[in-house]
Amino acid sequence: MQDPKLPKAATESTRQKNSALDGRVFDPLDLERVRRGFIAARTEPLIVDQQNRKVIDTASYDFLRDGRECPDTVNPHLWRHATLNAHHGLFNVAPNVWQVRGYDISNITFVRGEKGWVVIDPLTADSTARASLELISRHVEQRPVTAVIYTHSHADHFGGVLGVTSTEDVEAGRCQVIAPQGFLHEAIAENVIAGVAMSRRAAYQFGPLLAPGPRGHVDSGLGNSTPTAAPSLIAPTREISFTGEELLVDGVRIIFQLTPETEAPAEMNFFSPTTAGFAWPRTARTRCTISCRFAGRWCATRSTGRNTSTRASIYSPKKQTSCSCRTTGRDGVAKMFAIF
Ligand SMILES: [Zn+2]
Repeated sequence: MQDPKLPKAATESTRQKNSALDGRVFDPLDLERVRRGFIAARTEPLIVDQQNRKVIDTASYDFLRDGRECPDTVNPHLWRHATLNAHHGLFNVAPNVWQVRGYDISNITFVRGEKGWVVIDPLTADSTARASLELISRHVEQRPVTAVIYTHSHADHFGGVLGVTSTEDVEAGRCQVIAPQGFLHEAIAENVIAGVAMSRRAAYQFGPLLAPGPRGHVDSGLGNSTPTAAPSLIAPTREISFTGEELLVDGVRIIFQLTPETEAPAEMNFFSPTTAGFAWPRTARTRCTISCRFAGRWCATRSTGRNTSTRASIYSPKKQTSCSCRTTGRDGVAKMFAIF
């Protein structure tokens, strides 16, 4: 008899349900898209915190990189998502724009400013954000972080801020922190006031207690896995309060669009004419939101994923206004990897 503590083989019912999904043809170009702009990956798979405790271990997900077929224990759609997510490292995604993927549940972006890096969404944990900054410092250029932009109030988009800057640098004005209106209130509401319930839900939602493997944890539905570390927070020094608000951030011109109640209660998109027309319509093209569509409902507070697919909007630089864009999760993933 099988040890009940060991992961089980697929039951007949699971096998049938998973194989029924096999008929869908996945776009083979997705693999090409996900590798586009690749520069380098970390050679050390383990990222640890300051007490030397494991935060993330990319080697645990090597089974996603060995080219094996989708096992009968895993939904083929999740397998596809997970194997694409497993391509971690530093990527050049547009002129003067780089992204580090695969070391946290979300991605971190670096835009070249006049004096330093403008960092967009510094991940969940200080250690994963610091590892990302080290990667771009080593392979592109070592520069100070002159600005941090939080696109929205979810912890995987601000919790690693102390890995890329410090309270001293922010208080001295060497680094500004920009966020959408209502950010601090919503971040505290969701992660402190509702924090215990959120943490408990996340344990079911993302499966961090399962051992990685084809019969255990395959992917969180966003990135491969959640980092096991507490988030940090630096309060914004500048809140974006209206759509069309424009800032010059370390020489990078950015025009913002507020999108509250989309994937998070406090959220924004933005567009930068400086970086070759680089647009960051966050609600349409990040892992977080795309997976919200898979999950249906996501956020714990009054904003839910239900609004995301119908109200996600893309800033239109030509019209200087916003237009509605309804995308499916699958298209969204393809577009994300095509562009970022
Ligand atoms: Zn989010």
